[in-house]
This record gives sequence, structure tokens and C-alpha cells, in this order.
Amino acid sequence: MRCREAVKIIAENLGALDGRYFEAVRAHLQTCSNCSAYLDSLEKTVLLYRRILPPTINFLFDLHAARTAG
Ligand SMILES: [Zn+2]
Repeated sequence: MRCREAVKIIAENLGALDGRYFEAVRAHLQTCSNCSAYLDSLEKTVLLYRRILPPTINFLFDLHAARTAG
């Protein structure tokens, strides 16, 4: 997976991400510091506004949990 593809998937699927995409994106993030940094900044923003956002960004939290676990 290329960075452009990973970023596109993340940006377009914040609400609900297909399982196979989730694994692909997660695998990419483990090997790509650029996309990992991108998601870090995205996570900070989202987590900051989590209280006022509708619960439609579960993908990001799932991905965050997957990255921080272990
Ligand atoms: Zn990347």
C-alpha cells in the first residue's frame, strides 16, 4: 500500500472502515513513519473534539487502540 492510498482510505472512512482496509492501513502505519505521523496529528485533533463529535469516527479509535496496544 502506498502512502497516498493509506491517507485516502483513512480520510474517507473515518466512520466505518471495512475490515480488510483496517488491517491494510494498520500494517502500512507500522512501517511508514510519514503516515503514522499523519494519523498521530489526526488522532490528536479527533480526540480533542471527541466529546462534541457524533460517535461516527469509531474507525479512528479502533485504529488508535490497535496501534497503542502491545
Ligand atoms: Zn505511508
